[in-house]
Amino acid sequence: MKKKINIQLVGIASIAIILTLLSVSAIFYDLFQKQVIEDLKTTARILSNEMFVGAEEENINLPNIENLRITLINRDGTVEYDSNASIGTMDNHSDREEVHEAIDAGEGYAIRRSDTLDKNAFYYAVRLEDGSVLRVAKETNSILSIFNSAVPVICILAALLFLLCMVLAHFLTIKLVKPIEDLANNLDGTKEIDTYNELKPFMNTIYKQHEDIMKSARMRQDFTANVSHELKTPLTSISGYSELIENGMATEEDTTRFAHEIHKNATRLLTLINDIIRLSELDVTDVSNAFEKVNLYQIAETCVDMLQLNAENHKVSLTFWGEPCEVMATKEMMEELLYNLCDNAIRYNNENGTVHVSVKHIEDTVVLTVKDTGIGIPKEHQERIFERFYRVDKSRSKSTGGTGLGLAIVKHIVAQCNAKMELRSEVLKGTEIKIIFPRIQG
Ligand code: ATP
Ligand code: MG
Repeated sequence: MKKKINIQLVGIASIAIILTLLSVSAIFYDLFQKQVIEDLKTTARILSNEMFVGAEEENINLPNIENLRITLINRDGTVEYDSNASIGTMDNHSDREEVHEAIDAGEGYAIRRSDTLDKNAFYYAVRLEDGSVLRVAKETNSILSIFNSAVPVICILAALLFLLCMVLAHFLTIKLVKPIEDLANNLDGTKEIDTYNELKPFMNTIYKQHEDIMKSARMRQDFTANVSHELKTPLTSISGYSELIENGMATEEDTTRFAHEIHKNATRLLTLINDIIRLSELDVTDVSNAFEKVNLYQIAETCVDMLQLNAENHKVSLTFWGEPCEVMATKEMMEELLYNLCDNAIRYNNENGTVHVSVKHIEDTVVLTVKDTGIGIPKEHQERIFERFYRVDKSRSKSTGGTGLGLAIVKHIVAQCNAKMELRSEVLKGTEIKIIFPRIQG
């Protein structure tokens, strides 16, 4: 880009130099011609006056002025006198432009090019009192030969100007490109840089994109680190217990216990891997075109029935109330959503606590509420529980088999359904999560 700008600047400068030189030459040559004619006019007038004064005398005594040719032409066009040539050889002059004009109008001039001599001749003619014509002529070099003699100077001048332009173009290009280069070196927007106003929207987009890229890279990194860590714990247990059995260091009783531990950890691994797969599926695929009208009431009722046993085991009473409601989603997603919310409400509950699930229309929306009388979530954690692997109380969640992915999946599903989520929770009192679905269009 720099090179291109540089070349173009130098190109513009070259054209400007050449055009300027040509037009200045033309203007000056024109001025020069006018000046020559003006000089001839003055000379001719002075001479005609003198001749008028000395006209009485027989001999015409014209001064011999250097470079100046003076001709006296009779009324009929014959040459009476010529300072440069013998009059015998000269033909009738009445058809000459300047003479003609002088006879007609009193004064006249002409410029004639002589090809062979590479010269221009300037003529100025004045009509005298007696009707004859006085003509003054001067020869100058033609424009070409003037130009030729000036060529070396012009060339040197042009070369100097060209050099100057190249240097200026070089610095100008650097100055022009610098803000763009600064921008390229400052993609993260850490430095405050001075750039063109036209570039600012572009710059802001780049900064934003850069930030997003960095953020998602960081998230991916965190996620990978978390996954590795989560996989390591159960695998270490499995490996440890199985090694003990392998080495014959376990009694028969131990073996049963160890097998149970291995089974438990393997199950945990499976759940974890399923959750991760589910999350990455929700991340990459837009399932909204597989959406259909699903009956949330029915799904919630089935889910609550299914979890009844689980609730009994936790000594929690699980109840449901609802009215027929339809939302745009997939059945699987709604099952996952309900399962995760109810599972949490049961798991993070107290003995003799309650969980109440409800589905109802409120104005234009369908609202699913899962409310428990459990341990609650401290304010400072409420924002973060939807992050992957985030658990408020690591030991409690882990001891109940939690991976910290449930609510991350919920968040994804809610986003895909264009729904909104509200969380209200108070420590030791309980938690209420509301999912607000938009009304089905049409
Ligand atoms: P998973 O659901 O993947 O088995 P998990 O339940 O630990 O594991 P999430 O469902 O994402 O993970 O929940 C994140 C954390 O939020 C939980 O560990 C828990 O600390 C807190 N939490 C979630 N729901 C409730 C609730 N109803 N009451 C109190 N705390 C909750
Ligand atoms: Mg959960």
